[in-house]
Amino acid sequence: MAIPKNSESNITKLLDRGFASRHNSEESPRQSEPRQHVVIVTCMDTRINPYRIFNLVEGDVHLLRNAGGVITDDVVRSILISQRLLNTTEVLVVQHTKCGLATFAGDQFKDEVERETQQRPEFEMEDFEDVYESVKSSVSKLHANPYLTRTTHVRGFVYDVDQDQLEEVVVDQ
Ligand SMILES: [Zn+2]
Repeated sequence: MAIPKNSESNITKLLDRGFASRHNSEESPRQSEPRQHVVIVTCMDTRINPYRIFNLVEGDVHLLRNAGGVITDDVVRSILISQRLLNTTEVLVVQHTKCGLATFAGDQFKDEVERETQQRPEFEMEDFEDVYESVKSSVSKLHANPYLTRTTHVRGFVYDVDQDQLEEVVVDQ
């Protein structure tokens, strides 16, 4: 299924709306090292605003987002660079209730993609049934990773999108 090219893209609208006006009003951080030495891994879900939830300002943390807030090879790659080049030492995993990743089966999803594109995605879809179990396994993956030797603390939370509350699932070890 070909997607028609739209001459007026939403990216253009975003740029027109945001960047031009904001750029003059607020200084961007000048240092690349996160002040809090923390990496936050969380879902791309629009209902999660880590800056608001954790009362952060720009420059405080490295923020890694993907579908689910799960630990993929690319998340490990980024944490490794964050630790070795930019001196972060702690990782905070935040997944959430009503996550899209808990609503579909990865294999069926791949079937659909394969039917439409004649190619099957080689990567894992990382779907899960229970967000609490997913947080636990994500934290375990980080602890078990042989490269992330500079980690001092890992904590795992579920964010309730209805209650706007955080629940700790994996306590710091
Ligand atoms: Zn999600």
